[in-house]
Amino acid sequence: MSTQYFSASYAEARRRFLEAANAAGARVQSYPLPAQSTGTLAIDVAILGADDAPALVVSSGLHGVEGFFGSAVQLALLEQFSKTRPTPGVRHVLIHGVNAYGFAHLRRTNEDNVDLNRNFMANAGGYAGAPSGYAGLNRLLNPESPPSRLEPFKTKALWKIWQAGLPPLKETVARGQYEYPRGLFYGGKKPCASTQIVQDHCDDWLATSRHIVHIDLHTGLGAHGNYKLLLTESDYTERRDWYAATFGASHIEPLTKPDGMAYRVAGQWGPWMQQHFQSRNYCFAGAEFGTYGVVRVLAALRAENRAHHHGTPGSPAYLRAKKELLECFCPASPAWRCQVIGGGLRVVEEGSVALRVS
Ligand SMILES: [Zn+2]
Repeated sequence: MSTQYFSASYAEARRRFLEAANAAGARVQSYPLPAQSTGTLAIDVAILGADDAPALVVSSGLHGVEGFFGSAVQLALLEQFSKTRPTPGVRHVLIHGVNAYGFAHLRRTNEDNVDLNRNFMANAGGYAGAPSGYAGLNRLLNPESPPSRLEPFKTKALWKIWQAGLPPLKETVARGQYEYPRGLFYGGKKPCASTQIVQDHCDDWLATSRHIVHIDLHTGLGAHGNYKLLLTESDYTERRDWYAATFGASHIEPLTKPDGMAYRVAGQWGPWMQQHFQSRNYCFAGAEFGTYGVVRVLAALRAENRAHHHGTPGSPAYLRAKKELLECFCPASPAWRCQVIGGGLRVVEEGSVALRVS
């Protein structure tokens, strides 16, 4: 059963990842975060394959709590590798728990309330500003009080969506903001500790690979159990055809699709990697596995953020907010879990086949 790959905590997921990586004969590097009060938090990287082989990168937990899913796919993959050797001629780089704090504390953001996928700025001047509509929504999105059951957020959110349309609302809310440190989709004021670890060590991870396919695993966007690969490239580029041929046209979503579920985002990881490795062929896709509708997911993010900043840890309202966030980013349903492990492994296999023939 694919459900066996899901762990109940970050500590368990990390332990299983490290054990499976060792069993598969991978080289493992761990990069601990600056000391936290509760247990070890680290980015762990498992590497198999030659330095100069084309590389398949599979990363999990850039968005903390989404790591329960990404880690499960990585574990399934490592177990495959220990039974049958990985695809010969391909270097596999598995990056576990990029935002380990959020993974451990059931948050999408990190220890600084930063969304790491808004934190990879090309230059220091980028850490400023907010989308024009964000200020107007700030009170609705980020109330300065603990979560309460008797609050008509869904009605208000639906009314805003009705007024603005869903794509413009997503642009405004989710694009990333740098002015409200306790707000949703905050991108920080400088590179965070995890961002810094990635930026300092990615050259080692990718050695001399010339062709890289990076699958960054996410959940929470799209149809329940299904997946889309969100590209960093806009439409009608040559590489877009390669993505379509590799992963299937129905599974890819270029950045610019006007009615699509993707939205323009500042400080994303993918473009940073592509820029950093610009002399190589670096393909990056955010693999989004759907859970529930946008309003439910946004309501869960909002409630957890309120509970984190204004609630009492351990109180019923706090625990309810954490539970709903976990459900929204890693549903408990065995059917969902089996479906997304299947989808995750398929995407990885397709990427690896494409690299082998490249
Ligand atoms: Zn995500």
